[in-house]
Amino acid sequence: MPQGQEADGQALAADAGSAAVRQYVAANSESLLRTLLDYVAQPSVSTTGEGVAEAAERGAGLMRAAGLTAEILPTPGSPLVIGSAPGRRDSPRVMIYGHYDVQPPGPLDEWQSPPFRPEVRDGRVYGRGTGDNKGQHLAHLLALRILTETTGGLPCPVTVVLDGEEEVGSPHFGWAADRYRDRFGADLVLWSDGPVHDSGQAAVVLGVRGILTFELRVRGARYPVHSGNWGGVAPNPAWRLVEVLSALRDPVTGRALVDGFYDDVLPFTPQERKVLDDIPGDLAAALAELGAQAPEPPADRALYERLAAWPTFTINSLSCEDAGEHRTVIPSVAVARCDVRLVDEQRSERVAGLFRAHLARVAPDVEFVPGRAMEPSRTPLGSPHLAAIRSGAAEGLGEEPLLLPALGGSLPIHVFTGQLGLPCYGVPFANVDEANHAPNENLELDRFYSGITASAAILTRLAAEPASGTEAKAGGPA
Ligand SMILES: [Zn+2]
Repeated sequence: MPQGQEADGQALAADAGSAAVRQYVAANSESLLRTLLDYVAQPSVSTTGEGVAEAAERGAGLMRAAGLTAEILPTPGSPLVIGSAPGRRDSPRVMIYGHYDVQPPGPLDEWQSPPFRPEVRDGRVYGRGTGDNKGQHLAHLLALRILTETTGGLPCPVTVVLDGEEEVGSPHFGWAADRYRDRFGADLVLWSDGPVHDSGQAAVVLGVRGILTFELRVRGARYPVHSGNWGGVAPNPAWRLVEVLSALRDPVTGRALVDGFYDDVLPFTPQERKVLDDIPGDLAAALAELGAQAPEPPADRALYERLAAWPTFTINSLSCEDAGEHRTVIPSVAVARCDVRLVDEQRSERVAGLFRAHLARVAPDVEFVPGRAMEPSRTPLGSPHLAAIRSGAAEGLGEEPLLLPALGGSLPIHVFTGQLGLPCYGVPFANVDEANHAPNENLELDRFYSGITASAAILTRLAAEPASGTEAKAGGPA
């Protein structure tokens, strides 16, 4: 924040703008809720394509209602919806990212009300996409509409981009950011997805872990053979696979024993160490919740350090082609499905290359089959705009947000930080038990409404900061 009288005046103006939005939300809660119910009622399942084109039209319509120009841009997959509106010229240009596609509904008989006929019960809206992610990006779109209606315009120039393929790994989002580069002009990116912190407290999220999936395959005989008639003769790919796997990880430290794996994992700065230590989280309670005795090695790491700061190497499943009933055979192929969660400067292609090179050296008979990848994203703690976003979120959500350096999971925001060089900030609005991806997905109405107020407060605070904007870029060491 700038110093002195001018700063006080700007903060006061920001508070007045937010107060007007808060009043508007309180007076119009019914019609805002109807807009949400309407949007959620439109299916948009990216895995099957159900309703996707219609949902893109709805998204564009909501943008136009908020005073944005809106375009539906084709990609090799589901279309992208993008719209923008001008604001005060010396303010930072804000891009808001969300996704209009949803997960498939899953087992219908486990839903208490139909997934695409949203229903309000006990202060929550139930329906597929309420929290993930229609309710959350709609809160931003409604904030834009209300700011324009109550103050005559937006405090900052804003672009909203809605991905139609987030739930299938956003395979064309990076492509679209390149192809439509002229629409992606911004100084920072804001997104709201996933729930608030486990404790229920609001949070500002600075990054995500990336992911690389792959299979390790070992082949034996040309077909499965009788374990008596051929036992002791036919090579067993299952034994070979578990022997190779066990040499790929240190059982005490938990470190992946792949040469170069940790080269791009950055050491903590004192500031990062403090932020991690300040996040409330109880490892013992988390394990009890899981019904598990001991955590993954190493033993001496706190919960959020595990989730946010370190890469993991996970075996997802082990199988032979004869999985099923117990038959006394020697399998002909054994497969380990694996994933690696990436952090900091690790990149999927380099890590895949490290696995390949390592296996070529120690186990050339093991085949490495790459799957999908998403890069990690990291906005440094010292990045610009963070103070404005934290104070706007605090004002709109009614509590000081926690600072989370990274989420354990993955989102395609590396496109912003890595590809476009923009700092990227997450402010989740959904409740912890939103049941995203599960039956009975829901969003607490109070969080929907406070999300609208928070979005308006954040934009107003951003507009009040000095227009220094872009001196520090994301991606580098904090
Ligand atoms: Zn999702």
